[in-house]
Amino acid sequence: MSSLTIREVSKSFGTASVLRKINVDIEDGEFVILVGPSGCGKSTLLRMIAGLEKTTSGEISIGSRMVNDLPAKARDIAMVFQNYALYPHMNVAENMAFSLKLKGAGKDEIKRKVDRAAEILGLGALLDRYPRQLSGGQRQRVAMGRAIVRDPRIFLFDEPLSNLDAKLRVQMRTEIKALHQRLKSTIVYVTHDQIEAMTMADKIVVMHNGTIEQIGAPLDVYDRPANLFVAQFIGSPA
Ligand code: ADP
Ligand code: MG
Repeated sequence: MSSLTIREVSKSFGTASVLRKINVDIEDGEFVILVGPSGCGKSTLLRMIAGLEKTTSGEISIGSRMVNDLPAKARDIAMVFQNYALYPHMNVAENMAFSLKLKGAGKDEIKRKVDRAAEILGLGALLDRYPRQLSGGQRQRVAMGRAIVRDPRIFLFDEPLSNLDAKLRVQMRTEIKALHQRLKSTIVYVTHDQIEAMTMADKIVVMHNGTIEQIGAPLDVYDRPANLFVAQFIGSPA
């Protein structure tokens, strides 16, 4: 079933056109990575899917529902940002519980969902710690935990690993892939790192200057790049 449909979506800021007639179809359970150089419009597209930014034209649908006019909190989506933005005065459990509390969830439901997220992410022993007492990788896990407790239809990740050192980044790639296999949810993930895209995604969307150059399985794109830009960006053999 179709999870997310982006139809002819364009975006301008004033006179600057940053995305032009974007079309992407994402199936339920797919792990899709939007990849391209800095400034090509990846975050803007993700923010429009999340409802944090309005489209200038075109349509975005989640499932069969057109969501252009639906506010962020009414979309069945959770977003994990690059700068984890944890609440410094709340411990790990409280950080993960916060959005559920806002929604008015009961104590038992909150505990069950926080415990499940902690178990999935290996945070069980850290629930009482504060963000300043955590490593970068642990903080990133808490940020993911805050998304998981909401049990969204679609997870959005914007360069979630870019603040981590190289070794941890490689380890977290494996963890996020395992997370996807366990949750079987749809993930739309943004990175400028082509290796990350190639190793993690079911499908990559290669972007450049506000347009899509190619969509496909990583190996297909690598073997049959649509043009010189894609070949050079992905590092296909000449
Ligand atoms: P990426 O995430 O691929 O690096 P962005 O989506 O952040 O790219 O940005 C795409 C383009 O849109 C850039 O040229 C950026 O400067 C511009 N842009 C992004 N947000 C705004 C904004 N709020 N106002 C004006 N220009 C913006
Ligand atoms: Mg960005």
